[in-house]
Amino acid sequence: MDWFFWVIIAIVGLAILIGGLVVALDRRRQLEHREKPELAEPERRPDVVVPPEAEPEPETAPEPEPAPAPVEPVVTEPEIPVVVEPPAPTIDHPEAPASRWARLRRRLSSSNNALARALADLLSVDRIDADTWDDFETTLITSDLGVGPATELTEALRRRLAVDGVADATRARAVLHDELLKLVDPSLDRSLNLTPAKAGDPAVVLVVGVNGTGKTTTVGKLARVLVAEGRSVVLGAADTFRAAAAEQLATWGARVGVDTIRGDEGADPASVAFDAVAAGAEKGVDVVIVDTAGRLHTKTGLMDELGKVKRVIEKKAAVTEVLLVLDATTGQNGMTQARIFAEVVDVTGIVLTKLDGSAKGGIVIQVQRELGVPVKLVGLGEGVDDLAPFDPEGFVHGILGE
Ligand code: GDP
Repeated sequence: MDWFFWVIIAIVGLAILIGGLVVALDRRRQLEHREKPELAEPERRPDVVVPPEAEPEPETAPEPEPAPAPVEPVVTEPEIPVVVEPPAPTIDHPEAPASRWARLRRRLSSSNNALARALADLLSVDRIDADTWDDFETTLITSDLGVGPATELTEALRRRLAVDGVADATRARAVLHDELLKLVDPSLDRSLNLTPAKAGDPAVVLVVGVNGTGKTTTVGKLARVLVAEGRSVVLGAADTFRAAAAEQLATWGARVGVDTIRGDEGADPASVAFDAVAAGAEKGVDVVIVDTAGRLHTKTGLMDELGKVKRVIEKKAAVTEVLLVLDATTGQNGMTQARIFAEVVDVTGIVLTKLDGSAKGGIVIQVQRELGVPVKLVGLGEGVDDLAPFDPEGFVHGILGE
């Protein structure tokens, strides 16, 4: 029985040995699994479509490697700074003054123009009797010609047309043209005085007039006339009572490449005018045009203001031209303004604006007569180049619709 006992013991020992071996192997597998998680099979989600693995490229014989290119030295270019220029403002080319009359004079013969109408009516009658002449004279007076010039024109025409009458329309028109031209006076010097008193100084044009007459617009248009003539210009915005006036002027100037000197709103107009002339002198420009405030509060106030502006400017350079701007549509009211300004400053030239509107035309003759100063420029519209040097022949042609 002894051998049976030892067989049992051996079997049990063998079983224990095999069990221990199995447990040890299992532990080892677990350990290896934990150390290499990347080897684990990826978890497959049902919604993810795994593309089939690309077929391995068929093996081809490796191409011979190209000979390496000679290595060129790398030259780094110096960096050029990029300068972004602001877009250049577009500069206008204003129309040459000489060609403006031909374009604008037609605006004078509108049916609104009482002088043009009176003359056309006279030419349209067959026979002129005393009553017709009386009516004609009255119409001339109401067309802003003034009493003196109206009587003179009527008398002259009466005398010259007494023989042939108006039956010969061509001759009658020629007589009318001739007499009207005499009144406008082609002998007056209408050029702007732009010769500086001292060599090297700029010429200075002082522009005066009541607000609303078109003064600031005229300064802007005049800058264009001068630029078109090839002159260099600086503008002075000495109407410091209206910020809008300085703004308006700067815009006019910028369009033709002209600088505008301006002060703060309410600044002393004389100091702005001085600064403008000083800037013009420093830049060596040909002309400085100074816009002034047109407040007709009291005659003394106006006199003080304009007198001071002129005096202060003349510490730097002489004022060569004083232009009075008048709105031609204001008729007798405009004449009253003209008289006051003429007493306060030495007006050397008149600018008549809005002759294209309901102006009566005769004012050209009346204002020259009363002030003894020529009309030098006329405004015939709101366009930027609708300001023209006054041309007596062209004016008469325009009025007579020739
Ligand atoms: P200011 O107050 O005297 O400086 O007047 P502005 O220069 O501001 O002009 C007043 C108005 O008159 C503006 O609407 C201008 O366009 C207008 N104006 C100026 N000159 C003329 C002209 O010759 N003809 C016409 N029809 N309008 C003009």
